[in-house]
Amino acid sequence: MEKTYMSKWFIAVCISWLQLLILIFPFTLRAENVSVITTIFPLKEFAQAVGGEQVEVTQLLPPGAEAHTWEPKPSDIVRLSRADIFIYTGAEMEPWVSGILKTIENPKLVIIEASQGLPLLRADQAEAIGGEHHHSQESMHGRFDPHIWLNFDFDQKIVDKITEALSKKDPEVILRYQRNAEAYKAKLRDIDLRYLKGLGKCDSKEVVLGSHAAFAYLAQQYGLRQISLYGISPNAEPTPKKMAEVIACAKKYHAQAIYYEELVSDKLAKTIAQETGAKTLVLSTGENLTQKQIETKVTFLALMEQNLENLRYGLSCK
Ligand SMILES: [Zn+2]
Repeated sequence: MEKTYMSKWFIAVCISWLQLLILIFPFTLRAENVSVITTIFPLKEFAQAVGGEQVEVTQLLPPGAEAHTWEPKPSDIVRLSRADIFIYTGAEMEPWVSGILKTIENPKLVIIEASQGLPLLRADQAEAIGGEHHHSQESMHGRFDPHIWLNFDFDQKIVDKITEALSKKDPEVILRYQRNAEAYKAKLRDIDLRYLKGLGKCDSKEVVLGSHAAFAYLAQQYGLRQISLYGISPNAEPTPKKMAEVIACAKKYHAQAIYYEELVSDKLAKTIAQETGAKTLVLSTGENLTQKQIETKVTFLALMEQNLENLRYGLSCK
C-alpha cells in the first residue's frame, strides 16, 4: 500500500517537472535576444516598447549628437553588420543610409524605413505651415520634412511596422509583441487626445521657434503654425533678415514664448525673446537626448508632455 502510494507520488512529481520543462522549453531554445539598431531616439523608444525584454535595442546616435549632421563611424557599420533589424527615419533624415547598406554584408538584416508609406510634407510645405513663406537658404526642391515622429498617428503606424518585423524574426513571442505594441499605442492615442484638448482654445496659434522647423507635422495635427528661424535642419546660420522677420512675427502674434531645443544653442532664441519681451522655453524634437537626459531615463512621451505644457504657456491656452 505504502509502496503504491510512494510511486504514485513519484509519478506526479515527474509529470509536474515535465510540464514545467515543456513550458520553459521555448525560452531555453532562444540563443540570444533579437538585436535592433535605430538611428534617432523616438525609434529606439518605439522598438523598446514593443520588444520589451525580448530585444536589445541600441541607438546609433551618441548622447548629445545633432541628428541632422551626424554620420556613422566604421564601428557603427560593424554593429549594423551584426544586427537583426535596423530602423531609420528616411533618406532626408539619414542620407548616409543607402551608401552604408550597400557596403555591409548582413543577409539577415531587416530594414525598416519608418517614413515609407506615410503622407510626407514637402520641405517647402512644411515651412509654409507657418503661413508666412519664410524660405530659408537651403534648397527646398525635392526635399521632404523628415520629422514624422512628431505626428502621434504616424508613430502608431511606425509601431505597427516594428511589431511586424519583430514578429517575423521571433514568432514564438508574437503575442507578447502585439500586447506591448497595443499598450504603447494606447499611450500615443492618449497624448494625442491631450494635445487636441490642451491646444483647442488658445489666444495664439503661432509657434515661434528660435530653432529649426521640426514641428510641421505637429502643427498640422493641431491647427498650429510654426514660424522658425531655420529650415528643416538646423545647419545653415540664419541671416539677419530672417532674424528680423521672426522677431516681427513674434511681436505681431504676441508670442509668450520663443522656443529652442536642448541640443542646439539657445542664443538666437534668447535674442528674439529679448527683442519681444517673451520667455524662452524648450520645445523638444526628441531627435536625440543629452547625456543627463539618458541618465535620468527621460522618455519620448515625457518630452512630448513637457512640449504640450510649454506650448500651452506660449500660446496662452485655456
Ligand atoms: Zn530635425
